[in-house]
Amino acid sequence: MKKSTDIHNLSVLLQQWYAEHKRVLPWRETTDPYKIWLSEVILQQTRVDQGSAYFQRFVRIFPTIESLASASEQEVLKLWQGLGYYSRARNLHAAAKQLVTDFNGKFPKKYSDIISLKGIGEYTAAAIASIAFNQPYAVVDGNVLRVISRLFRVKEPVNSAEGKKIITEIAQQLLDERNPAIHNQAIMDFGAMVCTPRQPRCSQCPLQFHCAALAEGSVLMYPVKIKAKKSTDRYFHYFHINHRDSTYIHKRDASDIWKNLYEFPLIETKQATDFTELGRNDLFLSWFGENPAGVFSSVYGVKHVLSHQNIHTQFYRVVLPDSEPFGMPENFIRISSSSISNYPVSRLIHKYLERFHH
Ligand code: SF4
Repeated sequence: MKKSTDIHNLSVLLQQWYAEHKRVLPWRETTDPYKIWLSEVILQQTRVDQGSAYFQRFVRIFPTIESLASASEQEVLKLWQGLGYYSRARNLHAAAKQLVTDFNGKFPKKYSDIISLKGIGEYTAAAIASIAFNQPYAVVDGNVLRVISRLFRVKEPVNSAEGKKIITEIAQQLLDERNPAIHNQAIMDFGAMVCTPRQPRCSQCPLQFHCAALAEGSVLMYPVKIKAKKSTDRYFHYFHINHRDSTYIHKRDASDIWKNLYEFPLIETKQATDFTELGRNDLFLSWFGENPAGVFSSVYGVKHVLSHQNIHTQFYRVVLPDSEPFGMPENFIRISSSSISNYPVSRLIHKYLERFHH
């Protein structure tokens, strides 16, 4: 379809705005597809300021696809620690191996090859194809969804298949095919800095005379979204044991959250449970017995929110007398207390250790 002058004009305005206001970010200085891929994966669900430090550390420790592919999963997860959504790190690692096996360690240029890599969806594939190889694929991330839904008053929910399809088509129309790299980065930065979720800066917006939602006075009604699925509540009780300068951890392996990450002994209960009730729990009794000799103190309670799950967590510190023997079942590993920092753990435990483990 031929583009109207009007829609082309929007890209010109976006690029002019970008030339003046673009953010200086470490991955902007490169067209290396490996680094662009890394930055895109790190920045999904992560703020730019936090993501930058991780990006720089990753590039330093794994400067090439080969170095990432030959690392162990534990090393990769450890480096990822604190970012959450660990499946991103696992996919990154798996895709690096795929790149070595199937593409000679080089990033492919073809969109269909890029999207065949583990964990790379439409958004990341379009970002790599356009930013690294200047190919005409429009990116559609949360910022782009918001900007387009407001500019064109898209009524279909942006989290429905239909809404996404409509917006992707408009995004492709809007794309300046001669400058896809600049155009895509411009519209994403614009969404992050001007057309923001709650307080868009419409009075300073270079697109204000083209914006259907602004003309109608309904900016904050967009993007339209279908209500997200209700979250379930879970109740976790962790025991940070201290016995002869050692503690116990185990590796999560169930088909549940935090696969392959380490954690303290955990009792999960169906509802909120205080320490007295916990003392009657079978698992608790099998670990510590009926009248535990140690000192149990409740040090930290927190609600940790994941997509679709609220993890209500209580951390207990357990100081057991050195004079008496103590052991946990075989699926737990006994480690020296100070070496806990060598193990990849969930963001929840990471936060606890940052505050309470010195
Ligand atoms: Fe977004 Fe406001 Fe600009 Fe419309 S006028 S694109 S709502 S910032």
